Amino acid sequence: MNNTYRNVKLASLMGSERTTVRVGDVEIGRGLTVIGGPCSVESEEQLLEIATGVKKAGAELLRGGVFKPRTSPYSFQGLGLKGLKIMEKAKEATGLPIVSEVLDTRDVRWVSDYVDVIQIGARNMQNFSLLKEVGKLRKPVLLKRGMQSTLEEFLNSAEYILKEGNPDVILCERGIRTFETYTRNTLDLSAVPALKELTHLPVIVDPSHGTGRASLIEPMSLASVASGADGLIIEVHNDPPRALSDKDQAITPEQFSKLVKNSRVVRSALEGLT
Ligand code: PEP
Ligand code: MN
Repeated sequence: MNNTYRNVKLASLMGSERTTVRVGDVEIGRGLTVIGGPCSVESEEQLLEIATGVKKAGAELLRGGVFKPRTSPYSFQGLGLKGLKIMEKAKEATGLPIVSEVLDTRDVRWVSDYVDVIQIGARNMQNFSLLKEVGKLRKPVLLKRGMQSTLEEFLNSAEYILKEGNPDVILCERGIRTFETYTRNTLDLSAVPALKELTHLPVIVDPSHGTGRASLIEPMSLASVASGADGLIIEVHNDPPRALSDKDQAITPEQFSKLVKNSRVVRSALEGLT
């Protein structure tokens, strides 16, 4: 069995050396890093309430989308610059570094001045111009797996970023599309240990988009941690039924708090295994 891909060079695991990605005081790839926050930034009140909640629950980074890749052009598209300014305020209030997605190459430079981590979403995993553009930055990139992508394609996308000179890439498994419809996607947790034997890059899991159902997020978070994930990215909302995007998979800060506690228990147990 082959566990290398011919064109994956910079991303491939050579020896046992693992990369960690530093974001402020956090080192992703060392211990378990938890990222929480809403799918979309909706207002200052909403984000500040959620940010305070996720911080209290033990999250180390705050997520929030301001450019949303929605299936329908009539759905809420995000607040753009106004949303970034709200994220800056939430960062100031909580001290949490911020993660936000960019959809367009024209926005990469200026958005990178506001955020600590640039997210490339599943739909853009093979947007090669976008990958090259974020590769020119000195800013960590959270690269999500495309919903139709193989691990080889995923790692080739990471390779695009690394090849441009940006070494700080975090991979994120977020579920792939299968025949199953009960869940929004099928969370491919075998990708976690598989990626660990293929690449030195940190690997985190997004069980929110991976399942699409609030009730499944804690169990799949625990399973993600047990599979060896370096972190979790979770959608949290102060009033899930009213969320402007992805309300079915939003959990409350209280649910998130329990999830974080239990995830750390699983992580400690894992570290105790031989
Ligand atoms: C998101 O994180 O809000 C998002 C749109 O995720 P994905 O690209 O994985 O669908
Ligand atoms: Mn979402």
